[in-house]
Amino acid sequence: MGHLLHVVVPTPAHSTVVEPLSYLSELPLLPGALVRVPLGRREVCGVVWDAPAGGGPQPDPGQLRAVGAVLGGLPPLSAAWRRLVAFAAGYYQRSLGEVALAALPPQLRGLDAEQLARRLQRKAAAAVEAVRSAPPALTDEQAQALAAIGAEPGPFLLFGATGSGKTEVYLRAVQALLDRDPEAQALVLVPEINLTPQLQARFEDRFGASAVVALHSGMTNPQRLKSWIGAHLGRARIVLGTRMAVFASLPRLGLIVVDEEHDPSYKQQEGARYSARDLAVYRARAEGAKVVLGSATPSLESWHACERGRYRCLEMPARIGAGALPTVRLVNMNHQPHGTLFSPPLLAAISQRIARGEQALVFLNRRGYAPVLACNACDWKSECSHCSAFRVFHKIDRTLRCHHCGFTERVPRACPSCGNVDIAPLGRGTERLEEQLVELLADARRPDGEPARIARMDADSTRHKGALEEQLAQVHSGEVDVLVGTQMVTKGHDFRRITLVAAVNPDGALYSSDFRAPERLFSLLMQAAGRAGRDAARSAASEMWVQTFSPEHPLFAALKKHDYPAFAAQQLGERRQAAMPPFAFQALLRADARTQEVAQAFLQSAADAAAALEGSARVTIYSPVPMTVQRVANVERAQLLLESGSRPALQAFLSAWQPVLQGLRLRGLIRWAIDVDPLVI
Ligand code: ADP
Ligand code: ZN
Ligand code: ZN
Repeated sequence: MGHLLHVVVPTPAHSTVVEPLSYLSELPLLPGALVRVPLGRREVCGVVWDAPAGGGPQPDPGQLRAVGAVLGGLPPLSAAWRRLVAFAAGYYQRSLGEVALAALPPQLRGLDAEQLARRLQRKAAAAVEAVRSAPPALTDEQAQALAAIGAEPGPFLLFGATGSGKTEVYLRAVQALLDRDPEAQALVLVPEINLTPQLQARFEDRFGASAVVALHSGMTNPQRLKSWIGAHLGRARIVLGTRMAVFASLPRLGLIVVDEEHDPSYKQQEGARYSARDLAVYRARAEGAKVVLGSATPSLESWHACERGRYRCLEMPARIGAGALPTVRLVNMNHQPHGTLFSPPLLAAISQRIARGEQALVFLNRRGYAPVLACNACDWKSECSHCSAFRVFHKIDRTLRCHHCGFTERVPRACPSCGNVDIAPLGRGTERLEEQLVELLADARRPDGEPARIARMDADSTRHKGALEEQLAQVHSGEVDVLVGTQMVTKGHDFRRITLVAAVNPDGALYSSDFRAPERLFSLLMQAAGRAGRDAARSAASEMWVQTFSPEHPLFAALKKHDYPAFAAQQLGERRQAAMPPFAFQALLRADARTQEVAQAFLQSAADAAAALEGSARVTIYSPVPMTVQRVANVERAQLLLESGSRPALQAFLSAWQPVLQGLRLRGLIRWAIDVDPLVI
């Protein structure tokens, strides 16, 4: 007779299956072992789990199926890893199996025991030892931050200006960890794949290429498996990755770094909607590791946690080499002729940079040529037939493209509604910005007498593999004088010769219905400003230009002084008064359906059923509302906001609510999901 095993398997979202499932095995297997098990008619990869508390239901052994192959040779996933997965599944209201299996590299899930054995045998490629560069002498601020990280438990918020040397602090904190315990492991998270190569190079330069592995979705499956195994076997000292890496198996985890901790990309936007930053803090505490969150513009959640004494704030206000932060210049667009894209003083300033052989960076948060194409004779506009949104005009290939569902058509020769040939773009995107700059700067000359070179960088121009790297190299080598783009250009890149950064039209965020829009705008503008004058020799003359119709907005007053604390105080004041996060905790129930009525009816039934549930007295449930973009790809979307002053009350309520939601069946309902601590409402 075999051993009873509890196994978590990839379960569909909202399945009512009680996890983990029970199987029989001839061998006793430890929790954390990987096995292949039959599930319905399929065979799937599963993780042996701990027995449910209290032993769980006693299944009839006669009914149980046997586990298939055991992926031997792989040490079991640790108890700490299983606790992390269980916490994430519980907190974000998803199944254990979904979270556990999604946390493993895709290829591992598909391998059989023999294939895996072959992988494990493969020796790690002979390490090419980098010529390790000598670390610079620390500044006083860096030394103080490191001393605190060494001496105190944390969590730490490293609040350092762009260019203040935060990365050097991360490198030294890892060094200190490895000096203490050469077998320890560090996890370093970055928000974007684009930023991993740069950071990876710095870590490899310091610790040798064999010590560092990367984990992100831009890697091929075999690469990911290799990195994952390196981490899991404890061979990799440093794992550097995007949000998914927070789930890496790290048996000797001693330190977690979350760089640019305020970045919204740390929040997963589908499936289990987890925050990798928040999980990093949880994981560090659970595993006795230290955690350092770094940012020049921390999330208001983290800033507030410092104010409450829950996080320790380490400040590094000075830029390395005493490079000054750029002067902020606001252009009052109310004084410019209607429809002005570039105000004359901004243009003059850009021309001047070009003449001096310096570079400028201009950004606008909208790609394409114009957000709408409209008929001048009737009221036709380039709406998407599948979404409640306009299709964007892309002049380069003369298409109308929906940025929500991807629906693309050639631009019509004449108005599809009235036949008028006079159809025109409304508004502007990066393509149009580029086109106009080329015209407006036709007379600008570089020091070598050549005309100015203008390039664009956005999701369209970097779609092809390698395009981004190529474009970045062009900017670095000085081939480009003015770089136009979306916020993509503002993140992290270390462009030495940029002395002017301009936000052409950032006002939208000031009047957004999303209460986090100002926070995001402020951090975007601060980041962008940080791109200018990184070369101390030029920093004195560096400028950040903002064209706005609301120059008196308090956000800009704080920006002019590069005063994040003032901005945070003002925003937190408003949030406290309105009882919004971080002074309250939120969750969203989202529903997708064939019609808006069904989506809202589902949410209304869910709300009606809530009153009787545990914790409901401490949870405010608002009314169902359509989402801002209500229809995408012919699916109607609505949401219901929940709020509570108590995180545990909200959690208890959501757990009690789950089975009720699973029981609600409506014709035309496509799917629903809970988003805990949503970032966009
Ligand atoms: P941040 O991550 O805060 O933007 P970085 O760590 O990238 O800043 O540092 C900015 C620049 O200063 C980098 O080129 C880095 O090599 C350099 N740097 C960092 N610390 C020191 C130091 N103590 N002495 C000299 N240069 C330093
Ligand atoms: Zn028309
Ligand atoms: Zn569409």
